Amino acid sequence: RPERQRKPDWIRVKAPTSAGFAATRELMRSKSLTTVCEEAACPNIGECWSKKHATVMILGDTCTRACAFCNVKTGMPRAVDPMEPQNVADAAAQMGLEHIVITSVDRDDLKDGGASQFVKVIEAIRRSNPTTTIEILTPDFRNKHEAAVEAIVAARPDVYNHNLETVPRLYPTIRPGARYYASLRLLESVKNLDPTIFTKSGIMLGLGEERLEVHQVMDDMRSADIDFLTMGQYLQPTPKHAKVAEFVTPQAFQAFGAIGRAKGFMLVASTPLTRSSYHAGDDFAKMKAA
Ligand code: SF4
Ligand code: SF4
Repeated sequence: RPERQRKPDWIRVKAPTSAGFAATRELMRSKSLTTVCEEAACPNIGECWSKKHATVMILGDTCTRACAFCNVKTGMPRAVDPMEPQNVADAAAQMGLEHIVITSVDRDDLKDGGASQFVKVIEAIRRSNPTTTIEILTPDFRNKHEAAVEAIVAARPDVYNHNLETVPRLYPTIRPGARYYASLRLLESVKNLDPTIFTKSGIMLGLGEERLEVHQVMDDMRSADIDFLTMGQYLQPTPKHAKVAEFVTPQAFQAFGAIGRAKGFMLVASTPLTRSSYHAGDDFAKMKAA
């Protein structure tokens, strides 16, 4: 049986034992909501949930794709839950969230890729929580991204996030169902449709990418007018997933972060435990206040 790789000391994760953690879990269960925090086995769950930060994953817990880095289960998803938009809005209200991050699995089986459910969720949150800022992290909507993005942009999320995940050379093995330039175009089209929406993207490091390839991805993102950048260490969720090629040091993350800021991103988060939703609300609030 393949062995798990040993993690360096800087990947320290607190055990999820706080009362806040239990309360967040209870709330998610009671609203039948799935979170990417649990499904992706996020290392920050103890910290985020204790502070009532959770990223809700809409459109079910089963993905139509099977990316080599991702712990979400793959298969034929269930029908879309019509109660989901209101349940998400109710959970946001109960948690008193100032900022909410909503993501989803890929739903290549649905005609609109699930875009209309994103719209309904945004509308439900706006109705129940008018001051909550909304960040959505969408899939690439494959061949239907133009209509999907148009519909979602019209619902006016505050931040539109879509992750490039890795450098283009590694797409065939790491993100085989997706196309690097299609993802870039998607983010560019958000800005073209509504320049007041902040755009955001991220990559994982430690999958075998070269330093200059990371710089190139940053340049490509800036050419597509992407505002916020996140970079974090890839961690292998189970021995069946892609192996960690390298544990990038905190100092190297810091150096990448400085380069990102020099290239003109408005917000850069770059540490080993950065995930696209990690501290997303705090960072966004700080940026708006600056
Ligand atoms: Fe959830 Fe994001 Fe925090 Fe991870 S970083 S626990 S996915 S909110
Ligand atoms: Fe995971 Fe997203 Fe890939 Fe589905 S498309 S396997 S949820 S990363």
